[in-house]
Amino acid sequence: MKMSKFEELHRVESEMEKDDSLPLKKGATKLVFGTGNTNAEILCIGEGPGFNEDRVGEPFVGQAGKLLDKLLIMAGLERRQVFITNVVHHRPPENRDPTPEEISAYGKYLDKIIEIINPQVILTLGRYSMAKFLPNVFISAVHGKEYNVFWHGRDVTVIPMYHPAASLRNGNVMELEKNDFLQLKEILSKIREEEKKKVPKSEQMSLV
Ligand code: URA
Repeated sequence: MKMSKFEELHRVESEMEKDDSLPLKKGATKLVFGTGNTNAEILCIGEGPGFNEDRVGEPFVGQAGKLLDKLLIMAGLERRQVFITNVVHHRPPENRDPTPEEISAYGKYLDKIIEIINPQVILTLGRYSMAKFLPNVFISAVHGKEYNVFWHGRDVTVIPMYHPAASLRNGNVMELEKNDFLQLKEILSKIREEEKKKVPKSEQMSLV
């Protein structure tokens, strides 16, 4: 019998728990795999767990998480509607930035998470998750815009957002980010309208 997304994700989480090769595992308290709606259309990808996330084992539970909740509401979304994960799933020491080697070590698991959730829209939070889909761009130039990306054989809309922690540090970024989430509401309703118009392949009869 086909496993549900929930079961498939649990299987990946158990695999990660057992993987002693993960470079940040030794210094971390808990694995922060990801939380939310396993059938979500929207996947949010942050950078990596901080102090609070490391204790609780869930992403975005600290100040940045509180802001993320508010921003999602501005876009007409609740946290329970989306799935949230990170580029690295153990806390980097002293909250430093993850290295390219660390990002690549966790990347194979992040890829599995993306494949299982199979979201229509990926919201990248900050430049590390943005770079996974949109390398060689500046977040200041692309934030809040939608990009159609062909990723691992599937079409996905990627919308790069500033990291909420960056907004907490800088009032100008906060204004830009709030505006981006307000615009996101419009982008999402447009995507939903377009989806409604599509006739599923299974319901199409050949015209030839
Ligand atoms: N910042 C992130 O990028 N991820 C978290 O889970 C928390 C803060």
